[in-house]
Amino acid sequence: MVTFYMVNDNVHSSQPKGLTETNSTQVTEAFAALANETRVEILLVLWSAMDPRPETDASETLPSFVELYDRVKYDQTSNFQYHLEKLTGQFVNKTDEGYRLTTSAKRVLSTVLAGTVTDAPSFAEERIDAACMLCGTSTIVDYSDGVLTQRCPSCDGVSQEPNEPEGVIAKEYRPPVGLKNRTPQEFVQQGKTWQRHQRHAFIEGACPECSGTITTTISVCDDHDSHDLTVCQHCERVHEIDASFVCDVCKSSIRTGIWNTILTEVAVIAFFHDHGLDTKALEDKFEYGVLFDAVEQVTVDAEEPLEIAVKVELDGDSLTIILDDEADVIDVTERVRKAP
Ligand SMILES: [Zn+2]
Ligand SMILES: [Zn+2]
Ligand SMILES: [Zn+2]
Repeated sequence: MVTFYMVNDNVHSSQPKGLTETNSTQVTEAFAALANETRVEILLVLWSAMDPRPETDASETLPSFVELYDRVKYDQTSNFQYHLEKLTGQFVNKTDEGYRLTTSAKRVLSTVLAGTVTDAPSFAEERIDAACMLCGTSTIVDYSDGVLTQRCPSCDGVSQEPNEPEGVIAKEYRPPVGLKNRTPQEFVQQGKTWQRHQRHAFIEGACPECSGTITTTISVCDDHDSHDLTVCQHCERVHEIDASFVCDVCKSSIRTGIWNTILTEVAVIAFFHDHGLDTKALEDKFEYGVLFDAVEQVTVDAEEPLEIAVKVELDGDSLTIILDDEADVIDVTERVRKAP
């Protein structure tokens, strides 16, 4: 049996919040405003004109009405004016320096451009400088359809999904745009950095996609049966206690072993650093084995309210971190071995 612990208060609901009638209308209006070739072209011209470098003078790069009209190559001024007005406010702002995109327009465009700027790039069988967390062999990565699959050529890996190649140790979404101007090795490495920031934002309570509030659910498998990171048949997970973070607004989500959530805590980073380990580098190199090996115990200390204790041990010194029901650190105790 798996027990779920979730905080319910004014902000967090038991399910990610659905669309209300008001914002459903807003969404329909937003899509309607964009459902026109000329309007999309106006946005793309403004996107090209955008130059966020600090040395650039906005008054020289942002187009005036006439410049915008010329660049979009639309033949009737009055109709052009009409389309521009449909975008003004939500997607376009008129400033003294010229027309510019609003922040929401930039986000919409960057999402679309990130997904389409390169045509479905892929690569296969690239050996990269990142060791398998189970056996230490250097791993192989494949990338297609936006999914990066990392495999170990020497062991069974952790995933036991049917129809999957053998030895899979990670499957992660990566926007295809990340491969632009990068080798597969750089793509994998920089992607880990990007992913670490995403994970840390979730753990620290702000959605990395939209900055919305997060609902945290901690689940505990009461009959957990996993050895050497194999998947437990009761909960279909590797970790007995895990945390799931779901954005209340945009429904972005991640799920991770609870021990992993301590890696945003300064006392934990310092403890590893004192023992010659850089948690950031280990996370980015996917050397979770080193981190996980240091985790001595993960236990439920109290149920109401929920308290989870994670004990980390390195060279005989130990650090015990107490997490609450939102995976926030509420206490840290360090025990350092006395020099003989
Ligand atoms: Zn392996
Ligand atoms: Zn289990
Ligand atoms: Zn969000």
